[in-house]
Amino acid sequence: MVSVALKERIRHRLADEVGRIQKQAPFTVALCYPSPYSAGMSSLGYQRIYRALMDAPGIACERAFLDDECESDAAIAAEHPVTYESMRPIEHLPVLAFSVAYELEIAGLVRMLNAANIPARRRERDERHPLVIAGGPLTFSNPMPLAGIVDAIVVGEADARAVLVIRAAEEGGTRADQLDRLAKIPHVFVPTHHRELPTVGAEDDAILPAHSAIRTPHTVLSNMFLIETERGCSRGCSYCVMRRSTNGGMRIVPAERVLETIPADAHRVGLVGAAVSDHPKIVSIVNALADRGCEVGLSSLRPDRLANTEGFVAALARVGYRTLTTAMDGSSERVRETLDRRARPKHLLECAALAKRHGMDRLKLYLMIGTPGETDADVDECIAFTAEISRIVPLALGIAPFCPKRNTPLDAAPFAGIRAVEHSLDRLRKGLRGRVDVRATSARWAWVEYVLAQGGEAEGLAILTAVTEGGSFRAYERAFAAIERTPRRKLSLATDSP
Ligand code: SF4
Repeated sequence: MVSVALKERIRHRLADEVGRIQKQAPFTVALCYPSPYSAGMSSLGYQRIYRALMDAPGIACERAFLDDECESDAAIAAEHPVTYESMRPIEHLPVLAFSVAYELEIAGLVRMLNAANIPARRRERDERHPLVIAGGPLTFSNPMPLAGIVDAIVVGEADARAVLVIRAAEEGGTRADQLDRLAKIPHVFVPTHHRELPTVGAEDDAILPAHSAIRTPHTVLSNMFLIETERGCSRGCSYCVMRRSTNGGMRIVPAERVLETIPADAHRVGLVGAAVSDHPKIVSIVNALADRGCEVGLSSLRPDRLANTEGFVAALARVGYRTLTTAMDGSSERVRETLDRRARPKHLLECAALAKRHGMDRLKLYLMIGTPGETDADVDECIAFTAEISRIVPLALGIAPFCPKRNTPLDAAPFAGIRAVEHSLDRLRKGLRGRVDVRATSARWAWVEYVLAQGGEAEGLAILTAVTEGGSFRAYERAFAAIERTPRRKLSLATDSP
């Protein structure tokens, strides 16, 4: 059932892992990631839940991932998913616990269930099948597309709650008994029992920081030890689910605790959090790691902090930064104002100057286009401003279309439309040709993400049809168009363009 190639891949990866916990327990669940191994093992949240379950008496977990081969081509059928630890088919385990980062990963979850011959439609599963439970970053905004697929959704932070959830399944009884118990756990949504989503759960600050359990060279962040220096964010960007009003603000891990948690043999360290650069001691943490000889990566750098914090960019140069990456967010000053961003042109210009002064190869800026009310004049301002930056230091732009998310002030904003986004991208590319490296994510897939970000159970079930029909953009477009549109569900079609 399992191909020789997959077996070999798993053996090879297991042999290179450091820190894997060896444990056998009476109740073992499959901890599933709906993207390939390299992405799953780079997820601090996934690693955190792995460690939480392995630390719990009487419980163990085995990991499973979406087949590598089928990620880049939606038409390739996924291999039968098996766990890495015992190569057991996932359907032989009593619970499948999925961590879902964002909307497009729901398709990976569906593909794993299909490949394991488990009905992906919740109502078609019964006592013969494992319980399917989902959690992860997606649940901070809108997990409702999962409601027709999974049996329970853990909403928000789940470091300790994950264990309660598995205990509720472990107690046995019928499937109905298990769901009854799950429905009583705070911040757990059980579609058969609840109509409304619960609020986003937050764990006790005492359990911070989350950190890697396993290091491996076979990830995007090769052999990197990941640790959170803070959780949440105190800023209020109007499009972001991590803003203070959703997550209760920024919870800071003391610098001493961060440094003592990092093992002495970790030579590559990733400092993770929604707003890592806002940590009040971030420069001393980075310099202390530089003194240990570590290479360090930070998951988010705000331009105002880089520009205004003495010695910050110098410290980043010490720990190996060759590209200074930060965000300009909106295309113009006017747009950035509407997004409630603190970054100003002077900060971005200072970042460029600092990158050059500290010998870095380039500056990379993330940018959203298609934000509400954006016009050609905003895009033209972006062209003029980024061209100015590129005269200071080589510049790359990483562009993503704006996608309104639930639980944010811009929730009800429209998606700009595929044609409008492509028009702005063309304008940017032409205006910056030969001067700035412009890379953008697909406007079409951003529209699929938008429909799911704003959608409910029907949109989630449409993924099943789209996956069955090959998983192409056209398959999604057809599947979404087939949903009966009620006045409540007025999502624009792919061909709509304001
Ligand atoms: S975009 Fe970044 S800075 Fe703004 S609220 Fe979200 S995490 Fe904080």
